[in-house]
Amino acid sequence: MKRFAEWSLFSLFPRHCPYCDVRIPGSRMLCEECENSLPRIAGEICSACGREKKVCTCKKSANYFTALAAPFYYEGAVRSGIHRFKFRGAGLNARAYASEMAETVRGRYPGIDFDYITEVPVTKRALRERGYNQCSLISKNLSELLGIPFRPGILKKIYETEKQHGLNYYLRRGNLTGVFDSDSPGEIKDKTILLCDDISTSGETLNECAKMLWLYGAKDVYCITLALTKMRGDK
Ligand SMILES: [Zn+2]
Ligand SMILES: [Zn+2]
Repeated sequence: MKRFAEWSLFSLFPRHCPYCDVRIPGSRMLCEECENSLPRIAGEICSACGREKKVCTCKKSANYFTALAAPFYYEGAVRSGIHRFKFRGAGLNARAYASEMAETVRGRYPGIDFDYITEVPVTKRALRERGYNQCSLISKNLSELLGIPFRPGILKKIYETEKQHGLNYYLRRGNLTGVFDSDSPGEIKDKTILLCDDISTSGETLNECAKMLWLYGAKDVYCITLALTKMRGDK
């Protein structure tokens, strides 16, 4: 009976694993193989950079955010999944990603009373070109799963920058200075904010966003992403 039920779900609502893209029954969030093999971040974790302590090289460098957490490293099926997601809009993927991130928020930020979730912004032009901001889609789902309000557009990206991953560490820092701002400083002051992005490589984008929030008087900024590169600053 279970088999039949799975089969009907499979044929009536076929969907694809949000990571490796194989077809899966509608009853599943991801395929069995990915469930057992995704590059999860586990064990002893550095709260400053979100990576396992055995690979952390951040030496707790000064950040404007309080902590960074992610369920996965940006590798293998997580990497290909995010890549597909960016270029082929998929609401179901956002749900699956958000459910992993919700688990991570519950586990790593227990007892934190967040005022709201907001997203790392893209420029208006990027939004026009792509039609949606994948980060907003994830944030919206995360908000529903965690029961924390979603406040889109708290931050705005003022102008387009060179792709971060094409630049070295020092250029990245300079590349982002003054790129983000906010039209709603009154909604930032004294707030505890969960800042959401899909991937973080060097952490500089999150840090620059957190810096703006901090300048406008945020009480605390915690970051959540779906994935982190294993080495800080890797592409
Ligand atoms: Zn899979
Ligand atoms: Zn670290």
